[in-house]
Amino acid sequence: MTKLQSILIRTIGEEGPLPIDRYMALCLSHPQFGYYMNRDPFGTEGDFTTSPEISQVFGELLGIWVAQAWQSLGSPRNFALVELGPGRGTLMADIVRVLIKLPDCAKAADIHFVEMSPTLREAQRQRVPNATWHSSTASLPAKPTILLANEFFDALPIRQFERKQGRVYERCIGVENAALNIGLVPSPRQLPLAGDGIYEDSSIRDAVATQLGDHLSKTGGYALVIDYGHLRTALGDTLQALKNHRHIAITEQPGEADITSHVDLESLARAFMAGGARIAGIQTQGEFLQRMGLEQRTLKLTSKATPQQRTDLLAASTRLAHPDQMGQLFKVMAISGPDNPVPYPFGAA
Ligand code: SAH
Repeated sequence: MTKLQSILIRTIGEEGPLPIDRYMALCLSHPQFGYYMNRDPFGTEGDFTTSPEISQVFGELLGIWVAQAWQSLGSPRNFALVELGPGRGTLMADIVRVLIKLPDCAKAADIHFVEMSPTLREAQRQRVPNATWHSSTASLPAKPTILLANEFFDALPIRQFERKQGRVYERCIGVENAALNIGLVPSPRQLPLAGDGIYEDSSIRDAVATQLGDHLSKTGGYALVIDYGHLRTALGDTLQALKNHRHIAITEQPGEADITSHVDLESLARAFMAGGARIAGIQTQGEFLQRMGLEQRTLKLTSKATPQQRTDLLAASTRLAHPDQMGQLFKVMAISGPDNPVPYPFGAA
Protein backbone atom coordinates (compact mmCIF):
# COMPACT_ATOMS: atom_id res chain seq x y z
CA MET A 1 0.00 0.00 0.00
CA THR A 2 1.39 3.45 -0.91
CA LYS A 3 1.49 6.13 1.82
CA LEU A 4 -1.08 8.13 -0.08
CA GLN A 5 -3.37 5.10 -0.28
CA SER A 6 -3.81 5.01 3.51
CA ILE A 7 -4.40 8.77 3.61
CA LEU A 8 -7.03 8.42 0.86
CA ILE A 9 -8.78 5.51 2.57
CA ARG A 10 -8.96 7.49 5.81
CA THR A 11 -10.24 10.61 4.00
CA ILE A 12 -12.95 8.61 2.23
CA GLY A 13 -13.92 7.06 5.60
CA GLU A 14 -14.42 10.56 6.98
CA GLU A 15 -15.90 12.37 3.96
CA GLY A 16 -17.44 9.68 1.78
CA PRO A 17 -16.52 8.91 -1.85
CA LEU A 18 -14.25 11.49 -3.51
CA PRO A 19 -15.11 13.12 -6.84
CA ILE A 20 -12.38 12.37 -9.41
CA ASP A 21 -11.05 15.94 -9.36
CA ARG A 22 -10.44 15.78 -5.63
CA TYR A 23 -8.79 12.36 -5.98
CA MET A 24 -6.63 13.50 -8.90
CA ALA A 25 -5.54 16.64 -7.04
CA LEU A 26 -4.45 14.57 -4.04
CA CYS A 27 -2.64 12.00 -6.22
CA LEU A 28 -0.74 14.63 -8.22
CA SER A 29 -0.19 17.46 -5.79
CA HIS A 30 -0.47 16.25 -2.19
CA PRO A 31 2.32 18.35 -0.58
CA GLN A 32 4.21 15.27 0.68
CA PHE A 33 3.10 12.31 -1.40
CA GLY A 34 1.76 13.89 -4.61
CA TYR A 35 3.14 12.37 -7.80
CA TYR A 36 4.76 15.53 -9.19
CA MET A 37 5.88 16.95 -5.86
CA ASN A 38 8.98 14.92 -5.19
CA ARG A 39 10.12 13.26 -8.37
CA ASP A 40 11.29 13.77 -11.95
CA PRO A 41 8.92 11.48 -13.87
CA PHE A 42 10.25 12.00 -17.41
CA GLY A 43 12.25 9.96 -19.92
CA THR A 44 12.95 6.29 -20.53
CA GLU A 45 13.80 5.72 -16.84
CA GLY A 46 10.61 7.49 -15.75
CA ASP A 47 6.92 6.98 -16.37
CA PHE A 48 6.32 8.92 -19.55
CA THR A 49 8.08 11.12 -22.05
CA THR A 50 7.09 14.37 -23.70
CA SER A 51 7.89 16.12 -26.99
CA PRO A 52 10.70 18.37 -25.68
CA GLU A 53 12.34 15.30 -24.13
CA ILE A 54 12.03 13.34 -27.39
CA SER A 55 13.87 15.82 -29.58
CA GLN A 56 15.61 19.20 -29.35
CA VAL A 57 13.95 20.04 -32.68
CA PHE A 58 10.61 20.48 -30.90
CA GLY A 59 11.95 23.29 -28.70
CA GLU A 60 13.92 24.82 -31.55
CA LEU A 61 10.82 25.11 -33.73
CA LEU A 62 8.90 26.60 -30.82
CA GLY A 63 11.77 29.06 -30.39
CA ILE A 64 11.26 30.20 -33.97
CA TRP A 65 7.54 30.47 -33.28
CA VAL A 66 8.22 32.64 -30.22
CA ALA A 67 10.52 34.91 -32.25
CA GLN A 68 7.85 35.32 -34.93
CA ALA A 69 5.14 35.93 -32.35
CA TRP A 70 7.35 38.61 -30.76
CA GLN A 71 7.72 40.30 -34.16
CA SER A 72 3.93 40.12 -34.65
CA LEU A 73 3.60 42.05 -31.39
CA GLY A 74 5.78 44.81 -32.87
CA SER A 75 9.03 43.59 -31.25
CA PRO A 76 8.35 45.01 -27.76
CA ARG A 77 11.49 45.89 -25.76
CA ASN A 78 10.20 43.88 -22.87
CA PHE A 79 7.77 40.96 -22.76
CA ALA A 80 6.90 38.04 -20.49
CA LEU A 81 7.90 34.68 -21.94
CA VAL A 82 5.78 32.34 -19.84
CA GLU A 83 5.66 28.56 -19.60
CA LEU A 84 3.08 26.59 -17.62
CA GLY A 85 4.29 23.29 -16.11
CA PRO A 86 7.81 23.36 -17.61
CA GLY A 87 8.77 19.85 -16.40
CA ARG A 88 12.55 19.61 -16.55
CA GLY A 89 12.92 23.02 -18.24
CA THR A 90 14.11 21.38 -21.45
CA LEU A 91 11.68 23.17 -23.75
CA MET A 92 12.57 26.64 -22.47
CA ALA A 93 16.31 25.87 -22.55
CA ASP A 94 15.98 24.89 -26.25
CA ILE A 95 13.95 28.04 -26.96
CA VAL A 96 16.52 30.27 -25.23
CA ARG A 97 19.27 28.71 -27.37
CA VAL A 98 17.38 29.68 -30.52
CA LEU A 99 16.58 33.20 -29.31
CA ILE A 100 20.28 33.95 -28.77
CA LYS A 101 20.46 34.27 -32.54
CA LEU A 102 17.93 37.10 -32.29
CA PRO A 103 19.59 39.22 -29.56
CA ASP A 104 16.90 41.91 -29.39
CA CYS A 105 14.24 39.28 -28.74
CA ALA A 106 16.44 37.39 -26.25
CA LYS A 107 17.14 40.63 -24.36
CA ALA A 108 13.45 41.56 -24.28
CA ALA A 109 12.34 38.17 -22.91
CA ASP A 110 11.55 38.06 -19.20
CA ILE A 111 11.06 34.37 -18.39
CA HIS A 112 8.30 33.24 -16.01
CA PHE A 113 7.47 29.68 -14.99
CA VAL A 114 4.26 28.46 -13.35
CA GLU A 115 5.20 25.28 -11.46
CA MET A 116 3.93 23.65 -8.28
CA SER A 117 6.59 20.99 -7.76
CA PRO A 118 9.67 21.90 -5.69
CA THR A 119 11.65 19.06 -7.30
CA LEU A 120 10.83 20.16 -10.84
CA ARG A 121 11.45 23.82 -9.97
CA GLU A 122 14.98 22.79 -9.03
CA ALA A 123 15.43 20.89 -12.31
CA GLN A 124 14.16 23.97 -14.17
CA ARG A 125 16.56 26.22 -12.26
CA GLN A 126 19.48 24.08 -13.46
CA ARG A 127 18.56 24.67 -17.10
CA VAL A 128 17.02 28.15 -16.95
CA PRO A 129 18.54 29.91 -13.93
CA ASN A 130 17.18 33.37 -14.69
CA ALA A 131 13.47 32.51 -14.61
CA THR A 132 10.92 33.78 -12.08
CA TRP A 133 8.67 31.12 -10.54
CA HIS A 134 4.95 31.35 -9.78
CA SER A 135 2.54 28.98 -8.06
CA SER A 136 -0.37 30.09 -10.21
CA THR A 137 -1.09 32.11 -13.33
CA ALA A 138 -2.73 34.82 -11.20
CA SER A 139 0.61 36.49 -10.37
CA LEU A 140 2.00 36.77 -13.92
CA PRO A 141 3.31 40.27 -14.74
CA ALA A 142 1.13 42.78 -16.60
CA LYS A 143 3.10 43.17 -19.84
CA PRO A 144 2.93 41.76 -23.37
CA THR A 145 2.91 37.99 -23.00
CA ILE A 146 3.93 34.97 -25.04
CA LEU A 147 2.87 31.85 -23.20
CA LEU A 148 3.52 28.15 -23.84
CA ALA A 149 1.92 25.12 -22.22
CA ASN A 150 2.97 21.65 -23.35
CA GLU A 151 1.12 18.81 -21.59
CA PHE A 152 0.01 21.11 -18.78
CA PHE A 153 -3.77 21.14 -19.13
CA ASP A 154 -3.99 17.32 -19.32
CA ALA A 155 -2.62 17.18 -15.76
CA LEU A 156 -5.33 19.42 -14.29
CA PRO A 157 -8.07 17.55 -12.40
CA ILE A 158 -11.36 16.65 -14.07
CA ARG A 159 -14.72 15.33 -12.87
CA GLN A 160 -16.54 12.48 -14.54
CA PHE A 161 -20.30 12.02 -14.82
CA GLU A 162 -22.03 9.01 -16.27
CA ARG A 163 -25.48 8.75 -17.76
CA LYS A 164 -26.86 5.22 -17.54
CA GLN A 165 -30.37 4.42 -18.74
CA GLY A 166 -31.24 8.10 -18.52
CA ARG A 167 -29.98 8.64 -14.95
CA VAL A 168 -26.94 10.77 -14.15
CA TYR A 169 -24.28 9.68 -11.65
CA GLU A 170 -20.91 11.08 -10.67
CA ARG A 171 -17.97 8.68 -10.84
CA CYS A 172 -16.29 8.80 -7.44
CA ILE A 173 -13.47 7.00 -5.67
CA GLY A 174 -14.69 4.88 -2.77
CA VAL A 175 -13.36 2.01 -0.67
CA GLU A 176 -14.37 -1.63 -0.97
CA ASN A 177 -12.65 -4.45 0.92
CA ALA A 178 -9.95 -2.01 2.07
CA ALA A 179 -9.09 -1.12 -1.54
CA LEU A 180 -9.86 1.97 -3.62
CA ASN A 181 -12.41 1.57 -6.40
CA ILE A 182 -14.54 3.65 -8.72
CA GLY A 183 -18.24 3.81 -7.92
CA LEU A 184 -21.30 5.78 -9.01
CA VAL A 185 -23.04 8.35 -6.84
CA PRO A 186 -26.40 9.79 -8.04
CA SER A 187 -25.92 13.37 -9.23
CA PRO A 188 -28.31 16.27 -9.92
CA ARG A 189 -26.05 17.49 -12.77
CA GLN A 190 -27.61 18.19 -16.18
CA LEU A 191 -25.22 16.94 -18.86
CA PRO A 192 -24.89 19.05 -22.03
CA LEU A 193 -24.67 15.98 -24.31
CA ALA A 194 -27.46 13.49 -24.99
CA GLY A 195 -27.14 9.71 -24.71
CA ASP A 196 -25.63 7.25 -22.26
CA GLY A 197 -21.91 7.46 -21.55
CA ILE A 198 -19.24 9.28 -19.58
CA TYR A 199 -19.01 13.06 -19.65
CA GLU A 200 -15.89 14.86 -18.39
CA ASP A 201 -15.37 18.44 -17.39
CA SER A 202 -12.78 20.45 -15.51
CA SER A 203 -13.63 23.60 -13.61
CA ILE A 204 -9.95 24.21 -12.81
CA ARG A 205 -8.93 24.02 -16.49
CA ASP A 206 -11.73 26.41 -17.38
CA ALA A 207 -10.78 28.79 -14.56
CA VAL A 208 -7.10 28.86 -15.60
CA ALA A 209 -8.01 29.39 -19.28
CA THR A 210 -10.50 32.18 -18.50
CA GLN A 211 -7.99 33.91 -16.25
CA LEU A 212 -5.32 33.65 -19.00
CA GLY A 213 -7.82 34.89 -21.58
CA ASP A 214 -8.45 37.91 -19.38
CA HIS A 215 -4.69 38.41 -18.97
CA LEU A 216 -4.08 38.27 -22.74
CA SER A 217 -6.98 40.61 -23.40
CA LYS A 218 -5.33 43.20 -21.11
CA THR A 219 -1.62 42.70 -21.88
CA GLY A 220 -1.85 41.62 -25.51
CA GLY A 221 0.07 38.64 -26.73
CA TYR A 222 -0.18 34.98 -27.57
CA ALA A 223 -0.56 31.60 -25.96
CA LEU A 224 0.22 28.22 -27.50
CA VAL A 225 -1.45 25.24 -25.84
CA ILE A 226 -0.11 21.86 -26.94
CA ASP A 227 -1.83 18.77 -25.64
CA TYR A 228 -3.53 15.51 -26.49
CA GLY A 229 -7.22 15.84 -26.84
CA HIS A 230 -10.27 16.25 -29.01
CA LEU A 231 -11.56 19.19 -31.02
CA ARG A 232 -15.20 18.70 -30.03
CA THR A 233 -16.76 17.94 -26.67
CA ALA A 234 -17.74 14.28 -26.72
CA LEU A 235 -18.72 11.44 -24.40
CA GLY A 236 -15.97 9.03 -23.40
CA ASP A 237 -13.68 7.97 -20.55
CA THR A 238 -10.24 9.48 -21.23
CA LEU A 239 -8.80 9.30 -17.73
CA GLN A 240 -5.52 7.38 -17.65
CA ALA A 241 -2.74 6.45 -15.25
CA LEU A 242 0.80 5.74 -16.42
CA LYS A 243 3.56 3.98 -14.52
CA ASN A 244 6.83 3.01 -16.21
CA HIS A 245 5.30 3.75 -19.63
CA ARG A 246 2.45 1.28 -18.89
CA HIS A 247 -1.24 2.01 -18.41
CA ILE A 248 -2.55 0.98 -15.00
CA ALA A 249 -5.90 1.50 -13.26
CA ILE A 250 -6.20 5.00 -11.81
CA THR A 251 -6.83 3.50 -8.37
CA GLU A 252 -3.82 1.19 -8.49
CA GLN A 253 -0.83 3.18 -7.24
CA PRO A 254 -2.03 6.60 -6.05
CA GLY A 255 0.83 9.09 -5.81
CA GLU A 256 3.17 6.74 -7.72
CA ALA A 257 1.57 6.99 -11.17
CA ASP A 258 0.86 9.93 -13.44
CA ILE A 259 -2.88 10.58 -13.89
CA THR A 260 -4.08 12.67 -16.82
CA SER A 261 -6.98 12.96 -19.22
CA HIS A 262 -7.49 14.11 -22.78
CA VAL A 263 -8.17 17.81 -23.09
CA ASP A 264 -11.56 18.90 -24.42
CA LEU A 265 -10.23 21.70 -26.64
CA GLU A 266 -13.70 22.97 -27.48
CA SER A 267 -14.49 23.78 -23.87
CA LEU A 268 -10.94 25.04 -23.24
CA ALA A 269 -11.27 27.42 -26.21
CA ARG A 270 -14.62 28.64 -24.89
CA ALA A 271 -13.04 29.34 -21.50
CA PHE A 272 -10.22 31.39 -23.08
CA MET A 273 -12.80 33.37 -25.05
CA ALA A 274 -14.90 33.95 -21.93
CA GLY A 275 -11.86 35.80 -20.56
CA GLY A 276 -11.73 38.05 -23.63
CA ALA A 277 -9.07 36.35 -25.78
CA ARG A 278 -9.42 35.12 -29.36
CA ILE A 279 -8.72 31.66 -30.74
CA ALA A 280 -6.23 32.23 -33.56
CA GLY A 281 -6.31 28.65 -34.79
CA ILE A 282 -5.98 24.95 -34.03
CA GLN A 283 -3.76 22.49 -35.91
CA THR A 284 -2.60 18.98 -35.27
CA GLN A 285 0.92 18.75 -33.87
CA GLY A 286 2.06 17.08 -37.10
CA GLU A 287 0.70 19.88 -39.27
CA PHE A 288 2.07 22.59 -36.98
CA LEU A 289 5.58 21.12 -36.82
CA GLN A 290 5.73 20.52 -40.57
CA ARG A 291 4.72 24.11 -41.25
CA MET A 292 7.34 25.32 -38.78
CA GLY A 293 10.02 23.47 -40.75
CA LEU A 294 10.41 20.12 -39.00
CA GLU A 295 11.78 18.37 -42.05
CA GLN A 296 14.32 21.04 -42.98
CA ARG A 297 15.57 21.39 -39.40
CA THR A 298 15.89 17.61 -38.99
CA LEU A 299 17.78 17.25 -42.27
CA LYS A 300 20.10 20.10 -41.32
CA LEU A 301 20.97 18.37 -38.05
CA THR A 302 21.44 14.96 -39.69
CA SER A 303 23.95 16.40 -42.13
CA LYS A 304 26.44 16.80 -39.25
CA ALA A 305 25.43 13.65 -37.36
CA THR A 306 26.91 10.17 -37.00
CA PRO A 307 24.85 7.35 -38.61
CA GLN A 308 23.38 6.43 -35.20
CA GLN A 309 22.50 10.06 -34.39
CA ARG A 310 20.95 10.36 -37.83
CA THR A 311 18.73 7.33 -37.23
CA ASP A 312 17.71 8.69 -33.81
CA LEU A 313 16.94 12.18 -35.15
CA LEU A 314 14.76 10.83 -37.94
CA ALA A 315 12.94 8.46 -35.57
CA ALA A 316 12.32 11.30 -33.11
CA SER A 317 10.87 13.59 -35.78
CA THR A 318 8.64 10.78 -37.02
CA ARG A 319 7.45 10.18 -33.48
CA LEU A 320 6.55 13.85 -33.02
CA ALA A 321 4.72 14.34 -36.29
CA HIS A 322 3.45 11.03 -37.70
CA PRO A 323 -0.33 10.69 -37.49
CA ASP A 324 -0.03 7.21 -35.94
CA GLN A 325 2.26 8.54 -33.22
CA MET A 326 1.98 12.04 -31.68
CA GLY A 327 1.18 13.96 -34.87
CA GLN A 328 -2.60 13.54 -34.87
CA LEU A 329 -3.71 13.05 -31.27
CA PHE A 330 -1.73 16.09 -30.10
CA LYS A 331 -3.20 19.46 -31.04
CA VAL A 332 -1.69 22.94 -31.05
CA MET A 333 -4.11 25.73 -30.20
CA ALA A 334 -3.06 29.36 -30.60
CA ILE A 335 -4.81 32.03 -28.56
CA SER A 336 -4.28 35.76 -28.89
CA GLY A 337 -5.22 39.07 -27.38
CA PRO A 338 -8.24 40.61 -29.16
CA ASP A 339 -6.15 43.08 -31.19
CA ASN A 340 -3.21 40.87 -32.18
CA PRO A 341 -2.77 39.53 -35.72
CA VAL A 342 -3.06 35.80 -36.34
CA PRO A 343 0.43 34.36 -35.77
CA TYR A 344 2.23 32.13 -38.26
CA PRO A 345 1.56 29.28 -39.15
CA PHE A 346 -2.10 29.75 -38.21
CA GLY A 347 -4.10 31.32 -40.97
CA ALA A 348 -1.31 30.35 -43.39
CA ALA A 349 -2.67 28.61 -46.48
N1 SAH B 1 5.79 20.70 -20.13
C1 SAH B 1 6.67 19.65 -19.64
C2 SAH B 1 6.08 18.85 -18.47
C3 SAH B 1 4.71 18.27 -18.63
S1 SAH B 1 4.18 17.38 -17.16
C4 SAH B 1 7.07 18.75 -20.80
O1 SAH B 1 6.46 18.85 -21.85
O2 SAH B 1 8.00 17.95 -20.64
C5 SAH B 1 3.16 18.53 -16.32
C6 SAH B 1 3.89 19.68 -15.66
O3 SAH B 1 2.92 20.55 -15.08
C7 SAH B 1 4.85 19.34 -14.53
O4 SAH B 1 5.92 20.24 -14.55
C8 SAH B 1 3.96 19.51 -13.31
O5 SAH B 1 4.67 19.64 -12.11
C9 SAH B 1 3.19 20.75 -13.69
N2 SAH B 1 1.89 20.92 -13.04
C10 SAH B 1 0.88 20.03 -13.01
N3 SAH B 1 -0.19 20.55 -12.38
C11 SAH B 1 0.15 21.80 -12.01
C12 SAH B 1 -0.53 22.85 -11.32
N4 SAH B 1 -1.78 22.69 -10.88
N5 SAH B 1 0.13 24.01 -11.10
C13 SAH B 1 1.41 24.17 -11.54
N6 SAH B 1 2.10 23.22 -12.20
C14 SAH B 1 1.48 22.05 -12.43
